[in-house]
Amino acid sequence: MITINEHYLKLEASYLFSNIAKRVSAYQSTNPDKEIIKLGIGDVTLPLPPVSVQAFHAAVDEMSNEATFRGYGPEQGYLFLREAIAANDYQARGADISAEEIFVSDGAKCDTGNIQELFGPEIRIAVPDPVYPVYVDTNVMAGRTGSCRDQRYDGLVYMDCTADNGFIPELPNVPVDLIYLCYPNNPTGATITGDQLRKWVDFAKDQKALILFDAAYEAFITDPGIPHSIYEVEGAREVAIEFRSFSKTAGFTGTRCAYTVVPKTCLGYRADGKAQSLHDMWHRRHSTKFNGVSYPVQKAAAATYSPEGRKQVRELIDYYLRNARTIRNEIASLGYDCVGGINSPYIWINGREDSWAFFDRLLENSGVVCTPGAGFGKCGDGFIRISAFNNYTKVQLAMEKIRAALG
Ligand code: PLP
Repeated sequence: MITINEHYLKLEASYLFSNIAKRVSAYQSTNPDKEIIKLGIGDVTLPLPPVSVQAFHAAVDEMSNEATFRGYGPEQGYLFLREAIAANDYQARGADISAEEIFVSDGAKCDTGNIQELFGPEIRIAVPDPVYPVYVDTNVMAGRTGSCRDQRYDGLVYMDCTADNGFIPELPNVPVDLIYLCYPNNPTGATITGDQLRKWVDFAKDQKALILFDAAYEAFITDPGIPHSIYEVEGAREVAIEFRSFSKTAGFTGTRCAYTVVPKTCLGYRADGKAQSLHDMWHRRHSTKFNGVSYPVQKAAAATYSPEGRKQVRELIDYYLRNARTIRNEIASLGYDCVGGINSPYIWINGREDSWAFFDRLLENSGVVCTPGAGFGKCGDGFIRISAFNNYTKVQLAMEKIRAALG
């Protein structure tokens, strides 16, 4: 008899997006002539930068010719891409990361889930609330939690992110071994300063803990005072793994390319207390279970680091940031407290009522679709998330409709 991984049965069904879809379709059928503007989902809408499209085409041509054809590539990623990442994303910012410490992959989502394979079954895990749901669900699947009660799994340490703490959690007052941090944050759009990040690095050192730092939205940082990488903080190389992605940076959500940084000095501990290189373990895991990202996709990603590529990526990000500013200014002018939308594509709005009630009110009165904050955790209740990933004209129209509905 083939038995199953019973931990899957603990997973709370993810009703968030299906519930949204159900409400939107009900609205559409009762209001067939009303336009619906979707500002809910965090997927990009603009096409790939032209430099990536050209590099993609050229690489496909190489694959069609016997002299330039390539089969299996290096599992860790082609050196041309890892060197470009190390030089541009790290060394240029004073972060001491080398190409050997970068692992190219097909997504930060998969990497944040897969990385857990390196850790012991009994570790104590701290997750933010509200949270990118992947961090929680992958731990449930791996059997690292008890069952879910009142939106929280037994065995996890939830770190409340609220307006009172500026959406940066307090250091846990119980021992923890693995800490998830995500800045700029999804869903709140909040950012973290170097001083605040240093406290986490020091805490992790003190506890012999590890920080999983998700910087998938790093490209949206425009404020020069905000760190782009945890490795800009001294000592982070020993206690942090960082996840990045080309998804939101360069429109690769459908093309797939990301990377994870595991410094050679980053440590875990064996049962006897002896230190163990997590880099060596991840290298082993990656080369055993992953065959690398396709050559044309890596070429397309590497093209974003050329001078022209950097300009084009900047234009993409600036486009979404203009949307974000427009949304934030409009919502703030209506008297709602909000965070994000400055160094982030997300605006987190205190609706001052139940998340779903606010969602329904917005949909009914303006045809605008947002994401109810309750879907991201207990601390998300009362909030909604609006995403800046859409066409500017549509964003302007959505804001006019919201003003008419709520103003
Ligand atoms: N991390 C965060 C915080 C995200 O919001 C997302 C996507 O929405 C990801 C990671 C996933 O990135 P990728 O497309 O590289 O899997």
